[in-house]
Order: sequence, then structure tokens, then C-alpha cells
Amino acid sequence: MSALPRVLTVAGSDSGGGAGIQADLKTMLALGVHGMSVITAVTAQNSLGVQGAWELPVEAVREQYRSVVGDIGVQAVKTGMLASAELVETVAELIAGTDAPAVVDPVGVSKHGDALLAVSALDSVRTKLLPVATVATPNLDEVAQLTGVRVESEPDLRRAAAAVLEYGPRWALIKGGHLPGEAVDLLTDGSEEHWLRAPRHDNRHTHGTGCTLASAIASELAKGRSVPEAVTAAKEYVTGAIAAGFPLGGGIGPVDHGW
Ligand code: PLP
Repeated sequence: MSALPRVLTVAGSDSGGGAGIQADLKTMLALGVHGMSVITAVTAQNSLGVQGAWELPVEAVREQYRSVVGDIGVQAVKTGMLASAELVETVAELIAGTDAPAVVDPVGVSKHGDALLAVSALDSVRTKLLPVATVATPNLDEVAQLTGVRVESEPDLRRAAAAVLEYGPRWALIKGGHLPGEAVDLLTDGSEEHWLRAPRHDNRHTHGTGCTLASAIASELAKGRSVPEAVTAAKEYVTGAIAAGFPLGGGIGPVDHGW
């Protein structure tokens, strides 16, 4: 068996290299695991936003997944942009048949407001994808979209987590980064609670933050860490990457994986 833990990202390509598959593979390299990719969609994207997006046929996604899992094997899977209900359901089925923890980042809308998931796919995320997740990592917009819970202050994070856990993931990590003040996230499985805090970095170059965090969690899980340990290490990694985020192009630059 190879000494390097193997981690698979199932996500969209960001031609600008800041988010999606590109952020995932950079994170995996930085964290010392072997990264592999199943591309679900291709975006034409830069620091200004998403100019176009094309999803891949279901069969192309299925075949990429089978190719890597069947031969190389995976110790953790991460999902990001899944674009359509059909792809969400396909990926949920593939994950259910894989003996590895799955980190589900229920990507909905980019920071620029571009839709990365069809509204018609929300129900499949709730009923098919979240139930097979080891950890679901929604931000506050995704929580509102998926559960209707609007988080306005820190105590609301508990209600948000409870609403997400109702769909069946083992753990919910509610990312409170869009609240004012400290960047606080709540990780819970319904019995244990872990509040993760980090100082807020006044840096607008945060493109790829969510992808990076979810990939870092998957990388740490693949190394054999527990979910709370993996999330704690991943939060530290993403906090450093945000602090080092840099301008690129004329808009929002990416987090930096070389800090
Ligand atoms: N593009 C792709 C392909 C993504 O997967 C994501 C997020 O998951 C984004 C863009 C959005 O990145 P951000 O909201 O950090 O700008």
C-alpha cells in the first residue's frame, strides 16, 4: 500500500486557479496527501466572477470516479460544485458505495453571486447527498438555502447545525465566517460541540476559502485523524491561507497555499 494517503475531490474546475478542483489539489499537495480529481463541471472564471459554466455528462463523472476508486483507492472524498440534480444524485450514489469518509461542501453560489448549483438540485442535496456525508460544511447562505434557518448571531449557529443534522450527515460544520467579528464555526454531531475561533483577517482576497477548508478536512481525515481533529487542523490551515490571500487580476484574489 502506498504510504501517501489518497484523497479524491469531486468538484468543478476554476480556470482562474483560485477555487474548485485547483484549490483542492493545491491544498492536498500542501498537506502531504495524494490528490485526485473527478471533474463535474468546467467554469470559465477569473477574479471578477464566473463567465460561463458547463457541466459534464453523468457518464463522464461516473467513469472518472470508477477509474480512480477501482485502481488507486481513496481514504477520503470531498465534494464541491455539483451543478445539477442529476450530478448530485450520481455523486451521492457513488459515495454511498465507497468505504471512505466524505466531506460535503454544499456549494450553492459563488462569492460573486454566480449560481454553481441549479435551484432544482437543492432537494437532491438535502435528501440524497447530505445523508451520505461524514461532515457537511455549509456557509450561512447555504444553510439558509437548504434549511430556511437564518443565522444572525453566534447562538443561531446551534439552530443551523440542528437543522442540517436532520438531513443525516454524521457531523455538521456551520461556517460563521460571514458574521461580524471573530471567524467562528460550530462543529457538532448533535451531542459533542466544538466551537472553532480564529481572528478575522481584513483581507478581501478570499477566493477558494470554502473549497480549501473542505479539502483540508478530507486530507486530515485521510491521515487517520478524527473529525474534530481534522476540522481543527483544517481551520488552522485555511486561516493561514486567508491571511496570505493575494491580489490577482482586477477583482477578488485567491487564498495562498504556499504560506
Ligand atoms: N468555482 C468553483 C468551481 C467552485 O467550486 C467554487 C466554490 O466551491 C467557487 C467557484 C466559489 O468560490 P468562492 O465563493 O470562494 O469565490
